[in-house]
Parts: sequence; structure tokens; C-alpha cells
Amino acid sequence: MRKNKVVFVTLGCSKNLIDSELVMRQFVANGYSVVHNPKRADGCDIAVINTCGFIQSAKEESIETILAFGKSKQRGQIRQLFVMGCLSERYRNELQNLIPEVDKFYGKFNYRQLFADLGKPFHAELAQERLLSTPAHYAYVKIAEGCNRTCSYCSIPLITGKYRSRPLEETVNEVRSLTARGVKEFQLVAQDLTWYGRDLYRKATLAELLARLSDINGVEWLRLHYAYPGQFPMDILPVIRERENICKYLDIALQHSSDKMLKKMRRGITKEETLDLLGEIRTSVPGIHLRTTMLVGHPGETEEDFADLMRFVREMRFERLGAFIYSVEEKTYSAIHYRDEIEAETKNHRMDALMSLQESIAMEINEDKIGQTLKVIIDRKEQDFYIGRTEYDSPEVDPEVLVGGNVKLRAGQFYNVKITGYRSFDLTGDVL
Ligand code: SF4
Repeated sequence: MRKNKVVFVTLGCSKNLIDSELVMRQFVANGYSVVHNPKRADGCDIAVINTCGFIQSAKEESIETILAFGKSKQRGQIRQLFVMGCLSERYRNELQNLIPEVDKFYGKFNYRQLFADLGKPFHAELAQERLLSTPAHYAYVKIAEGCNRTCSYCSIPLITGKYRSRPLEETVNEVRSLTARGVKEFQLVAQDLTWYGRDLYRKATLAELLARLSDINGVEWLRLHYAYPGQFPMDILPVIRERENICKYLDIALQHSSDKMLKKMRRGITKEETLDLLGEIRTSVPGIHLRTTMLVGHPGETEEDFADLMRFVREMRFERLGAFIYSVEEKTYSAIHYRDEIEAETKNHRMDALMSLQESIAMEINEDKIGQTLKVIIDRKEQDFYIGRTEYDSPEVDPEVLVGGNVKLRAGQFYNVKITGYRSFDLTGDVL
């Protein structure tokens, strides 16, 4: 067992990853060596698991991970085991009784207490500093915490609380200091990016934030994630269009298309309003790539509602689409007011049908890219290919570009790549 060695495991989303990076920085400031998401856990002093509690499958993964580390501790391979994050925020007391191997469960926001419990100082002067776990050329940046929306199926507001915008200058300073460390590409994240500023500045402030971040020297790519369609801040569209270093990319979760389901899901928007918004986004920002997320199998979804969703996806041709299957999340509006009456088989069938439709659309979109020259950032090398991404590809969630040919490329560098074909969702190409 290596003294002062910390193994840190992050589950869930990029917002959780940022929290992990903040906590890992504090461990380093206290003289610990930190390993993030190692394949094996053995031989460490302390293990910290940052959990996800969003939906059933994520909760199961978190509990399995905790139990696995619990076994490592029983085998004497770990001295102390701590758990934090969304699952722990929601079920701290139950978990403490169920899994006594864990020394202590913390919430999502009280990780300072962990250092107090270790008898170590929390370095307040480093509170905004992170030990980056992503490749050196890109990072996630959180611009707010919490959510004020009331989506019927979602437990996130129960975990993260009301919306809290991060002061604009704080985000600008963080991005400035990250560019000084060589980071070029930034994924902007929050539970709801588009509500930014309405609490703190009493007005939609995302457009101003984007312009300020885009003005920072060294920012090559800014990408927007987790936009919400309702009360969409239209003033961000010209900012995205006019600034070269803001990716022509928008991740905007729509969840469904049928008016009946949008109402049942308490999404606060109609199909017609959604169509108008998507039309306006595509007109205002030519060539923009839209990523969306859909939810299938929510209580009340009939075959007709699902057919409506399939027609909508076929017509809208989203460049990127992911989907979830509805699961009952206790204390949510849906769990309290609706019966989860749709069979698992039907839910899985709808999920498969939706994703195979999307695959065919994605292949057609890839076909249209053959012959184009695209700016690609290289992330890594894998066997005979360099693996990169265009401005339309966010790390971890979107397709990649396989760059071949007898060339020597550097990770974190941009290259112009001629697209020659595609392999399933990924593009292939040669450096010019
Ligand atoms: S916008 Fe809706 S789905 Fe997203 S975190 Fe908020 S409540 Fe959940």
C-alpha cells in the first residue's frame, strides 16, 4: 500500500468530472499523489468514488463500483474509502447503513469536509483550480450549478438544487488560466446552459459570456453543451455565427416531439415552438451541427406518439442524437403522478428503432462530407491511425475522424484533413 497515494474514480457526466478535478487538486496541494480512473485500485492509501445518481443504470454502476472498492478495502489493498457525488447526495444515510466498508459518504458539494476529516487544510486559494484529467488540449468548463426546470422524469434538481450561475469573471479567469496552460478547446457545460445569468444578473447572459470567452487569446474552440429549448436566448446565435472560435455545434436536449408527451414531461414547450426554434437556429447559423437527446418509454407514450417522434427525427435530421429509456426516479413528478406502464420490451424496441433510424441519417450526413476539407484536432494515436475530431465532434460523446497516411502528427495540434470516407459513425481522411 503506497502511502499518500489517492485513487480517484469519476462516474457520470462531465460536470462530475470537473468536481473530481477540483478535489484532486486539493489532494495534490496536500502532498498526495493522485491517479484518476485507474484500471486497478490496489495499493493505494485512499480511494474516492465520485458517483452518479441520474438514472437507474447509472445508480447501479455507482453501487457496483463502491462494492468493488469495498472488497479491495476488506483485502487490505485500500486503507480508507470515501464516496461523494450525486448518488451519495441523494442516498447518503441509506448507503452508510448498507455499505459500512465506506469510511464516509459525502454529498455533491461538501467535499471540503473530506479534508477536514483527514486533518488536512482545504486550500481556499486553489478552490477554482483543477487537476485536469482530460488530454492537455481540451477541458470542460462549468458555468453554473443546479436547475430551475421542472421536467417530470428528472431527479437532477432534487440532487443539485436551484440554478446558480457562476460569476462571469470567475469563468473568464478560469478559461484564461487554462489557455495559459495550453488548453485550446473548451466544452461549456451546466445542467442548463441557456438559463445562464437569469438568477445572478437578472437577465440572460450567455451571449455576453460567450463573447468574453471567445475574446481570450488561445481559445481555439468553444463548444456548447446542455442547452434547453424553452426560453432559448436567441441572442447567442449571432455570436456563434460571427465568431470563428465558437464551434458551429449546439447540444440541445429535446426529449420528445409529440405535444401530448412534451406536456406530460413538463418540458414547457410545444412541437410548433420547437420546430420554429430549430428552424431559426439553422437559418441563423448556417452549417450548425445539432446534437440532441430523446427519452423513450415515458408513461403515456403511445405507438402514435412514438411514430410522431420517428417522423420528427427523420425530418429534422439531427447530426448527432443520443437517447435514454425512461426509468422511474423516486420523488420525481412522473414517479409520483404516473404509472410506469410501458413494458421493458416495448421501451427497448423503441430505443432500437430510434437509434437505427439515427444511424442511417448519420451515414447519409457522413456521405455528404466525403471530399470536404475539415479542420481536425488530434487527440491520440491508435494503431495505424491518428484519432481526431472536427468542430462538430465533442469528446467522449460524438464520432471521431480516423486520420491515416504516412504522416507524423502531434496530439493537440490542428490539421486540415480531406475526408475520404467513413466507417460507421466515424469519418476517415488524409492530412493535406
Ligand atoms: S433541464 Fe430538465 S432534464 Fe435537464 S437537468 Fe433540468 S430538470 Fe433535468
